[in-house]
Amino acid sequence: MKHIKSLTPNRLYYFMKNLKNALLLKQLYQLKNLGYRYTDITIFKDDNLNLKLPHNIKELKKQAKECHLCELSKSRHSVVFGDGSLDAKLMIVGDFPSNSDDSSGKIFTGRYGDILDKMLQNVLNLRREDVYITNILKCRALDTKTPSTSYTHTCFPYLLKEIEIIKPKIILTFGELAYSFLSNDNTSMEKIHGIALKRDSYTLIPTYHPSYMLRNPSIKKDLFEDLKKLKNLLV
Ligand code: SF4
Repeated sequence: MKHIKSLTPNRLYYFMKNLKNALLLKQLYQLKNLGYRYTDITIFKDDNLNLKLPHNIKELKKQAKECHLCELSKSRHSVVFGDGSLDAKLMIVGDFPSNSDDSSGKIFTGRYGDILDKMLQNVLNLRREDVYITNILKCRALDTKTPSTSYTHTCFPYLLKEIEIIKPKIILTFGELAYSFLSNDNTSMEKIHGIALKRDSYTLIPTYHPSYMLRNPSIKKDLFEDLKKLKNLLV
């Protein structure tokens, strides 16, 4: 199992390049709407482009709501941003919005949301408002089995910024996509679930996604055991 820091210069470069291109494209559309048919690209100066993500959840959410940095923006109904307490000790990171989330614009709704609420209440004695819940991807992936890594790479800095702002003590990842992306490790969930992994500023605990539990009820016990371990670390 590798232990690699999640924020690599390559990921940041990839995102910044996409962000810059998207902002240039937006400016070109604005000029087109003003009646320009030709223009000189050199009129755009890097200094004019704000390439930094805001260090404020409200502003970050606003920026994500208008995000068109990857192709998922074409098929989504809503951008489903993270939600919950800004003082949360526990952050939960899933993979991507469900159909129900995409329709409602809210995170972890429908059956998965009900399961999550019950797990929080029954095992951790927490309400949803006590934790912060988010996903790797903020828009619904069409191929829900293996969303393209270009989408996840592009969206990842939003999650990194959420972590930087919330400063959780523990991050619980749901499912292999969230775990592998946050840890850069492809160990199977069977082997890695429930193991507390120390990171610079938080402890990472991977477990199964509630959607996987619905399809495989036999892992329910494992998932609940993982949460009990997490409970000991929260105190
Ligand atoms: S998935 Fe992320 S990067 Fe892609 S459009 Fe949505 S918010 Fe932007």
